[in-house]
Amino acid sequence: MSHTVLYFVLPCYNEEAVLPETAKRLLIKYEQLVRDGRMSRDSRILFVNDGSSDRTWQMIRDLHRKNPVFSGLSLSRNRGHQNALLAGLLYAKDRADAAISMDADLQDDIGAVDEMLDKFEDGCDVVYGVRNNRDTDTAFKRNTARLFYKLMAKMGVEMVSDSADYRLLSRRALTGLAEFKEVNLFLRGIVPMIGYRSDKVYYSRGERFAGESKYPLKKMLNFSIEGITSLSVAPIRLITDLGFIVFLISIIMLLWGVITKLMGITVKGWSSMIVSIWAIGGLILLSIGVVGEYIGKIYLETKGRPRFLIDETLDDGGRPS
Ligand code: UDP
Ligand code: MG
Repeated sequence: MSHTVLYFVLPCYNEEAVLPETAKRLLIKYEQLVRDGRMSRDSRILFVNDGSSDRTWQMIRDLHRKNPVFSGLSLSRNRGHQNALLAGLLYAKDRADAAISMDADLQDDIGAVDEMLDKFEDGCDVVYGVRNNRDTDTAFKRNTARLFYKLMAKMGVEMVSDSADYRLLSRRALTGLAEFKEVNLFLRGIVPMIGYRSDKVYYSRGERFAGESKYPLKKMLNFSIEGITSLSVAPIRLITDLGFIVFLISIIMLLWGVITKLMGITVKGWSSMIVSIWAIGGLILLSIGVVGEYIGKIYLETKGRPRFLIDETLDDGGRPS
């Protein structure tokens, strides 16, 4: 008999087509985990309604009424997947020993939950669900995803490749997550920043069994831009680099101008003109880059991120409080 209280957190946006089936499958999983003594009956399946315009919230209400194993949280309006997920996780933080987040369409194989719990019991605070293949994706999505992870790595953002928002977070990790007060929240980039012991569990991702994807191309693009700009100030540094290169070119131009002038093969005034255009352009870019560096610092400062989280302490001294 385990006393672990586990919260399953599922953001739902217009998911009336999948909710009944999702609830059914999760309930079977729930009963199995309780029977196997993996978690306590105080565990919950928490649906977060992200301002749906269809019957999603009514359905969650009905589920809760029929079986209190299902809990619900309804946001005041649509705030996007990441925010809905965060709302659910922060809600679970004070009630659960661990929370597992997943999508409402159950594309992520819930069979991996047992293994996640194994790792959690072994002392892991973060367990990432990682897809072992992308067979069910279109070639387009596969390639854009690969590009995305490459780009993020280039920008100095630490992320676990092929892991989305299917993961287990212990209460301690959730408390750490709550310390990140930033509004521009990109969970996949923030979770690795929490630290603590982490591990991965591999699973295969299926297709959505009903309803449509709530992530059309436009949202996906916005999502990656959000990811880069909320975690990295590398783009600003690119401006500085560009300014430096342009300025360097202007010096080469200067040398070239002097040489051709000495050889007497230039049009009058060409050398000084071309050199000053490149020099000024380079200096302007460089200056913007320098200003940008400070803006980048201010940006990170305003996020008010925790500077550290403590894993363990060994100390018998000090005054008892
Ligand atoms: N979602 C949400 N708010 C939104 C968009 C999506 O809460 O504004 C939820 C959605 O209900 C689902 C999850 O985010 O549980 C992932 O969405 P989806 O399965 O459509 O994305 P895909 O798997 O196609 O990337
Ligand atoms: Mg999906």
